[in-house]
Amino acid sequence: MRMMLIRNVLGASTYQYHTEQTIKTLIATAQGKTPFKISEPEKLKTFAERLGVDTSGTDNEIAINLCEFVTEDFNRTFTNSSEIVKALAPKERQDVWNKLDIFPGGIHGELMFSTSSCLTNVDGYYASLAFKAMRLGIAMAYQSQIVNEFCQDILFNIPRPHKMRVNLGVLDPDYVNAVPNGHEPFLALAMVQIARKPEWQKKAKAVGAKGLRIIANIETGQEMIQRWEMDDVFYGFTGNWISQEAILASGCIDLFFCDMNCSMSIDPIYAEKYKFKLIPVSEVIVFEGITDRINYKPEKAEDQASQLLQMAIDNFKERRASIEPVIGLEMGEAIVGFSTESIISALGGSLDPLLKVLKDGTIRGIAGLISCTTLRDKGQDVHTISIAKELIKNDILVLAMGCGNGALQIAGLCLLEAKDLAGPGLKSLCETLGIPPILSYGTCTDTGRIADLIGAISKALGDIPIPDLPIVAVAPEYMEQKATIDAVFALAFGLYTYVNPVPTVTGGSDLVKFLTVDCKDITGGVLHVETDTVQAVAAMLEHIETNRKKIGI
Ligand code: SF4
Repeated sequence: MRMMLIRNVLGASTYQYHTEQTIKTLIATAQGKTPFKISEPEKLKTFAERLGVDTSGTDNEIAINLCEFVTEDFNRTFTNSSEIVKALAPKERQDVWNKLDIFPGGIHGELMFSTSSCLTNVDGYYASLAFKAMRLGIAMAYQSQIVNEFCQDILFNIPRPHKMRVNLGVLDPDYVNAVPNGHEPFLALAMVQIARKPEWQKKAKAVGAKGLRIIANIETGQEMIQRWEMDDVFYGFTGNWISQEAILASGCIDLFFCDMNCSMSIDPIYAEKYKFKLIPVSEVIVFEGITDRINYKPEKAEDQASQLLQMAIDNFKERRASIEPVIGLEMGEAIVGFSTESIISALGGSLDPLLKVLKDGTIRGIAGLISCTTLRDKGQDVHTISIAKELIKNDILVLAMGCGNGALQIAGLCLLEAKDLAGPGLKSLCETLGIPPILSYGTCTDTGRIADLIGAISKALGDIPIPDLPIVAVAPEYMEQKATIDAVFALAFGLYTYVNPVPTVTGGSDLVKFLTVDCKDITGGVLHVETDTVQAVAAMLEHIETNRKKIGI
């Protein structure tokens, strides 16, 4: 468990890194120093009110108050309970966490507490290490993830459903193509704003291109596409992180710019061979042999985005003259942009219609599918797609996040037509509401957002404890350290949590028993590991049906 806790420290730190970039961006925006604006003042107010932040001033003043409040909370010691968790987490969970002494302090204090426990001969008890991972997971979900996503909503729009072009066919070699990679959408969105100006399209045409495009890619792309609509400049979404080598080898890329997370150390070899500019845009990203870089600074976002676009345009002629591109790649569409707000709006203004179909059995349950993608035991996305198909066939509504979401978008499962793959109950719900059976719910960072939605469902059903809800967490192809902390949070949150491939904890039989059996009587959460699709979903259905009986629906 020591190694598992170290992995969780890495995942939580990385989520928090992104969050702090968002907070810096929101502060600079409120001070009028970025090309962005407060796009969702109502959300700013409701979020500030939930946190108990003063909302009497202007939008900019409220934003600064909110940023100061969350920053103070991030910096609490681990012995000082987090005000954000107190304000946002369901009361029933808070009671459980207090009883178990895993109610967290500030995320920075928790990171220090966990890291200090991981040295040789410090904490030698697997259960204690697992509890430390849980309190870190709780701090991460509420402080890093929810604060991050809600503040990005405030800046860049609440996700609302719309269509988006997806798959590698969005890459057209005759355009100047700038492709962001990572998780942070700031510079990429600034570039879309600039590239939409006629003078920038003219610059691209002056070097012989048909135009200038920003192409969304992996999780930076998911952050973008869930909030902004496509056009001929913001053209579409390529795929998840394992698609990276195919994208780079397409011969269509002029600029690949990399923020935090999921850029590979072999990318410079591709840049050399396929003649594109490879530029890190975050201090944490470094490539051997790549000396050019632009470290994102919110106050300089406009200039930095313009410099990046100019690099892409300057690259076009050489790339087009020397590289034979791959053409005719597939392109499809997906409906993206579901969030708690947009789901409630699709339901006519309240959760009631969803609760009604859940209660009357039209749909049997809900699955939050939060996954990476990995080649560890099957092909790219193979297991994710088969698990998702099996879930909807059994009338389970799926909310998809992370690289798994990208897989399902490209597989055509986030389209209305996918209702034909759903069971009769879910199919009728899709037809009534005009929604796909798999709702594209954003990135792996949206794990916190879905915890907030589950908290709202629990409350609306009459404060039913989270472990008793007909809801499961599903990670069919987890891979990265961020995914392991998401799974540990799901256990602390009290969810049945399905993971695959087999986690690297099997050497510790006591720990395996703790996570897969004992935990159910401790937090209410339980870890289930199963490599076979049908058996995995059968076990999830059994859990869902048991819970339905327990709560009398
Ligand atoms: S889902 Fe996993 S692999 Fe994909 S971007 Fe997030 S952490 Fe990386």
